[in-house]
Amino acid sequence: SSYSRPQRITVLGSTGSIGVNTLDVLSRHPERYEVFALSAMSRVDALLAQCLQWRPRFAVMPARALAQDLRLKLREQGSKTEVLDGAESLSEIAAHPDVDMVMGAIVGAAGLAPCLAAARAGKRLLLANKEAIVVGGKLFMQAVEQGGATLLPIDSEHSAIFQCLPEDRKTWPQRIDHIVLTASGGPFRQRDPATLAEITPEQACAHPNWVMGRKISVDSATMMNKALEVIEARWLFGLAPEQIKVIIHPQSIIHSMVVCRDKSVLAQLGTPDMRVPIAYGLSFPERIEAGASRLDLLSGPSLSFEDADERRFPGLYLSWQALRGPEGATAVLNAANEEAVEAFLTGRLRFDQIHRINCESLEAIQPEAGECGAVAGLLGLDARARRHAQGLIAGLVA
Ligand code: NAD
Ligand code: MG
Repeated sequence: SSYSRPQRITVLGSTGSIGVNTLDVLSRHPERYEVFALSAMSRVDALLAQCLQWRPRFAVMPARALAQDLRLKLREQGSKTEVLDGAESLSEIAAHPDVDMVMGAIVGAAGLAPCLAAARAGKRLLLANKEAIVVGGKLFMQAVEQGGATLLPIDSEHSAIFQCLPEDRKTWPQRIDHIVLTASGGPFRQRDPATLAEITPEQACAHPNWVMGRKISVDSATMMNKALEVIEARWLFGLAPEQIKVIIHPQSIIHSMVVCRDKSVLAQLGTPDMRVPIAYGLSFPERIEAGASRLDLLSGPSLSFEDADERRFPGLYLSWQALRGPEGATAVLNAANEEAVEAFLTGRLRFDQIHRINCESLEAIQPEAGECGAVAGLLGLDARARRHAQGLIAGLVA
């Protein structure tokens, strides 16, 4: 390693799918990395086990009662980990002066404030939490620049694009004609669109190529995940909306592509395993063992490609609509979608109604001037869009 001491990392959302994969990669490189802090929303026993294994300085649970439960259980075990509560503590462990790297693996806009705190404090920020950049937009990128942070994409598509580009980002605009994000098409790629109303949360969460948290699994089934990724790419790579294209590639072997000015196409390939982009974020510009299995093109499936049908995946097209709208429209779309997905997962909304909530909220909620210049304004807009979406959901019968 090129560092003189182990790098200290805070993992925000350590009990989730990305969090667990991150700890798996870290466990392969004890000489390179040390866990400084862990955080989780609700699963006390999962966070307890992680704290006993990793012995972090801090553990955060935003809810006070859960934090107290964790504190007592840790004390019983003789652990020295200090437990903090309150959502502000997430920003504290993200910006702490002793931290080198932050993995942003919280799901949803709840991750915005801590990711911004890490950016402003100049950390190496590993960003899985796409909703944070979709909501934060320009403000997010300014925080990264002003804080002197290093922003590394963890979303597999964005990691692929990043891996295809040279380190000097000043050369990107001159080189890139457009990018192509690949999409698996999710579990309903071939399902009759007339039957979308009957889909249950369990069916929606059964992704063919990836095991992920429930929210992103539903987003993959509606293609809202790809819509959020289009918006994420706009900010990460400084592209115009029309420079971002999407193609369906059911095998998830090509993780995305860059089409250069001269029409040369650069792609990044590998078995679908999130530990690869996580390891790259951790070790960039070096490369470390990630635990992934080797890609065998001879014994694997043939690679195929399809167009993303607008009738089957109307949500995808809301991304370009939001990007062409006023600043803040992407935050509105994200907020409506978070509410719609939660309502679907709790049986209050049908699968096919998610798009309707997103579409109607995007059209109804107009961001106000100046609302996107600070976190408080963005979170106000987020709350307004959520209330609107909740009203729409209550007016529909699941
Ligand atoms: P998950 O639901 O498995 O885990 C989410 C984690 O965040 C958990 O530790 C949870 O306790 C915590 N959390 C949830 N709500 C919170 C809140 N309000 N405040 C604080 N903590 C909270 O989700 P995941 O699949 O690991 O996804 C995490 C993020 O990474 C998402 O933004 C997702 O889009 C993105 N991502 C995930 C994958 C994947 O393979 N899972 C791939 C690419 C991108
Ligand atoms: Mg992705």
